[in-house]
Amino acid sequence: MTVVGRLAPSPTGRLHLGHARSFLLAWWSARSQGGSVVLRIDDLDAQRVVTGSLETILEDLRWLGLDWDGEPLLQSTRADAHREALDALERAGALYACVCTRREIASAATAPHGPDGEVRYPGTCREDPARAAGAAPGTFALRFRTPPGTVRWTDRVHGPIGFDVAGTVGDFVLARKDGAASYQLATVLDDAHQGVTEILRADDLLPSAARQRLLAEALGLPLPSQAHLPLVVDAKGQRLAKRDGAVTLQELRRGGVSPERICRWAARSVGFTETEHDRPAKFWVQQSMMLGTSNGPIRLPESPLDDL
Ligand code: GLU
Repeated sequence: MTVVGRLAPSPTGRLHLGHARSFLLAWWSARSQGGSVVLRIDDLDAQRVVTGSLETILEDLRWLGLDWDGEPLLQSTRADAHREALDALERAGALYACVCTRREIASAATAPHGPDGEVRYPGTCREDPARAAGAAPGTFALRFRTPPGTVRWTDRVHGPIGFDVAGTVGDFVLARKDGAASYQLATVLDDAHQGVTEILRADDLLPSAARQRLLAEALGLPLPSQAHLPLVVDAKGQRLAKRDGAVTLQELRRGGVSPERICRWAARSVGFTETEHDRPAKFWVQQSMMLGTSNGPIRLPESPLDDL
């Protein structure tokens, strides 16, 4: 089987060291197996898209020494395909309309919280379909009828793993009220469209992976292999944010840090054979991929440069 890896940045701000590490590892994994790499731009959340960030991201990726096969795929150009999939799920009885507001869901006081801290959808509109019957376009979302039980699979980093999506998240959103496909649905459809066979990304997306597996099964799409890498966190143990200038690739570049240094840091973090010389991204393709088991987050020191 030909391996197809992918890079899937969101144009919502600048790339930081955590992104650099995920993208380098995704690229090394695919390229070291003679595979191709596709680029997808997750630009569906129009309110979060930052003007100019797509250009900056492409510049950062090229600066790191990464390339990709074919043209980048913008998710916003795939609305028709996303709609067709929603229609197919509807015909299969796998979704329903929901008019609940965020406030209504949050005030379902006894609702347990899901793995991302989100409130489990209590199933209000599933139990009472009359609520959404005849709702005008723009006033209802579409939710997946999440089957009960634990979703189990083997992650390349975390090993055997399971998530009870129905019990912790409930029926999750497939299309937002504005009609756009949700991240969960769009990522499954677009990974399949681009022929992606393996996904490497940070493990804050592990809970999403369970939802995506359910959707791929419901849509009869192949399931790519998955590797969820421990997050890179700051000295306080907090996840890196795009606003943390000190760790963005732009700031590092302006501060004179070479892409080779970042490649070496990312390579060391997964146990690639150490070299005392900084090498370009393509050099590390020769090294064996040692993703290993999850050793917890990669903590950066107070001054990230000390670690690079
Ligand atoms: N675009 C998402 C992000 O930057 C990643 C999506 C994915 O890897 O599935 O967080």
